[in-house]
Formats: sequence, C-alpha cells, structure tokens
Amino acid sequence: MRLRTWLPVFAIAIGGFWINWDQLGQYSATATAEWVDALPVVSSAMARNFIAVNAVSDRLFSLFVFVHIGLPLMLVFGLWFHIQRLTRAAVWPPCALAVGLGVMLAALALAAPVASHAPAALDRVPDALRLDWIVLFVHPLTDATSPAFVWALVAGSALLLFALPFLPSRLDSPAPAAVVDAANCNGCQRCFADCPYAAITMVPHPNQRIGRTLAQVDADLCVSCGICAGACPSSTPFRSAAQLVTGIDMPQSPINTLRQRLRESLRAPPFALSLSKGQREASTSSARTGSGIVVFGCDHGADVARLQCGDVCTFSLLCTGQLPPSFVEYALRDGAAGVVVAACRDGGCEFRFGERWTAERLRGEREPHLRASVDAERVELVFAGRGDVALIAQAVDRLRSLMPPLGAVVSDPHHA
Ligand code: SF4
Ligand code: SF4
Repeated sequence: MRLRTWLPVFAIAIGGFWINWDQLGQYSATATAEWVDALPVVSSAMARNFIAVNAVSDRLFSLFVFVHIGLPLMLVFGLWFHIQRLTRAAVWPPCALAVGLGVMLAALALAAPVASHAPAALDRVPDALRLDWIVLFVHPLTDATSPAFVWALVAGSALLLFALPFLPSRLDSPAPAAVVDAANCNGCQRCFADCPYAAITMVPHPNQRIGRTLAQVDADLCVSCGICAGACPSSTPFRSAAQLVTGIDMPQSPINTLRQRLRESLRAPPFALSLSKGQREASTSSARTGSGIVVFGCDHGADVARLQCGDVCTFSLLCTGQLPPSFVEYALRDGAAGVVVAACRDGGCEFRFGERWTAERLRGEREPHLRASVDAERVELVFAGRGDVALIAQAVDRLRSLMPPLGAVVSDPHHA
C-alpha cells in the first residue's frame, strides 16, 4: 500500500509547484500537459490552456487545488479504509522518530530554502530554472527520451507494484487459519481482544452451558500468527487430558505438539536429574529440577535453534505470542532450571503485537498471565531481532550462573 501510493504522492508534490504559478510552475504545468497530450486517448490538447494569458482561468487553479489538496484527502480516505481490518492501528510514528524527522526537515528548509521564481508569464519561455530534481526530474527525462517512454516507465512500475502481492513467493499455499474448538471455548474473548488483525468475532455459543459466546475466525483475515492460541485459557499444559485440545489452535503448530515436545525434552537429561535413592528421600520437593534451560523463540525473530546444545532446549513458535505463559511455569516445574522467552524487538513483531502481548502476559499485566508464584529470577524475557542471537545467549548464560552445582537437590517452593 505504501509503495502503491507513490504515483498520487508524486502528482500531489508536482501540483504544489503549479499552485505557486511562478515560472517553474508554468514550466511544469506546460510540460505535464504536453506529456498527457501524448496519450492517444486524449482528444483535445491540454497544452492549449497555456498558450495565451487569457486561457488561464480560475477553473485551471481549481484543478491545481484539487491535485494538491483533493488528492491527499482521497489518499487519507484510502489509508483509513485500508487499516479498517487492523485492530489498534498505529497511524502516528514513534515520538522520537517524529521529532527527529521534524527537526531534520526544519534544518533542511533553513539550509536550502525553496525560493519562488519570477511570476509566470505565458508570453515568455521560462529560462534559467532551478529545478527540483527529486520531484520534477520527470520533465527533463521526458525531454531526453520521449513522452511514450515515460508513460511506459510509469505504467510498468505501477503494474509491478500492483502485482507484488501476487508474485510467486506470495502464491505459496497460505498457512492454515486458526481453528476454534467449540467444546473448549468458553467465550472469554481473550483471543478476540488479542488478535492483531480483527480476524475473530464472537458469535452465540451453540452450547450455552459452556459459554454464552463462541470465537469465530474469518479465514480471509487470519494471518496464522497463533497469538490467539497463546491467549486461550484452555491452552494450559497442566490439563490432565492426554490430548491437549484448546479453544483455538493452529493446525500447523498445535499447542498439544508443543506440550508433547516439551515433555519429552524435560524427561531427558540434563532437565531430569538422576537422583540417588538417598537424595530422593532427602528431598521434600516433588519438582524435578535439572540443569537445563528452555528457550522459547519465534520463527520470524532470532534463530533460537542455533542455541540448542547439551543443556539448552529450544522451541521456535509461529510467534512468541503463541506461547501461553503457563508453559513457562510448566517447564520450570518439570525440570528446567530456567526459561528464556525471546520476543522480537519493541515494535518489530511480524504480527504487530506478539512481543507486546508476550511481555504484558509475563509481567502479569495481561491475561493469561504468568502466575506471581513463579520464580521471576528463573525467567528471562529478551527482546531480540533476527540478528540478536547473542542477546539470547547472554540471557541463557545469566540463567546458567544461577544454577546449583550439578547433582544438588533444589526444592521448589510451589511443591513443598
Ligand atoms: S492466528 Fe493470528 S490472525 Fe489468526 S485468528 Fe489467531 S490471532 Fe488472529
Ligand atoms: S480465548 Fe479461547 S476460550 Fe476464550 S474466546 Fe477465544 S477460543 Fe474461546
């Protein structure tokens, strides 16, 4: 969308020169009219409007005003329409970026102010123009080539930009949308609140004994981020069912598979300590605390698989927001010495809010939250971009430094 607005943005910028109606505006308006006249579909020559002083009327300036002000208003409407499918659409840049850009533009305007030329005079050919090469380069390009060449260039680039969404990489079969299981949905609306793309609506529940409303996914809007599965209270690994079926899940990466893989890892060394009979009797804890560290990451963020080694077990999710916080507690209770949750950098989530929701859930500011009884010392939340594997490695090292000597029995207060 941002790329596809370049054509109207150029027209709007050029229209600003016309409204000024100095010799540069006159040159640009005349050159544009001649360029448009080169189209075979244009029946009467637009350039005629600029051959005599009395040919320029208020109507022409109404057109200029429309190009310079009416088009931006239409663009704003188009952008507003475009973001209707987004929840919590952010239309303002971050404060630091906005201030930085403002200061930079003000400094540039002071350093190189744009000065008007002499007033337009249709009985004279403008000379010695100070061209704005960023916007008005199209006129010398037309002179150096031909109007047909520039039309072909504009049409070709516009077609390419409009075809971008349909290029081969986007034509791969789309990832499956989230699927709701009515029997496990109580209508709590957490998935509805957390979905970044407004793909979920709440409809009357077919079984009112379970809940009054039921989540319903619009597959056309769903981008398969899994954030809804991380929000669902049914996604807790502590449920005793052999098959963990949650209220809303991702067919390509079910919560049950995550629990299975985590369980298998936690049952093997170094997560599960092999205690001697005496140690087991001495221990008052039912927790099996080993020396391994679990790392949860995201397919779109830093490659956590690179950290997989003897005492580190990694799990990459569709988005870190897919991780129900109860999995952190589950890992710690069942053998992990520490857990690292690696989310994308602030504002860098592929799916808009994954890193934000994850942080809020782990800090207890958003449902489902990580229980306050979980030892915060043993949980590291890291914000890491694609190339920031080292940041996650540092968090792993911090957790390693907290570990008791190998073989020691660590009592877990939650199981005491
Ligand atoms: S997978 Fe993502 S986009 Fe799809 S319904 Fe769930 S939260 Fe919304
Ligand atoms: S979060 Fe789970 S239980 Fe709550 S509405 Fe969504 S699917 Fe249903």
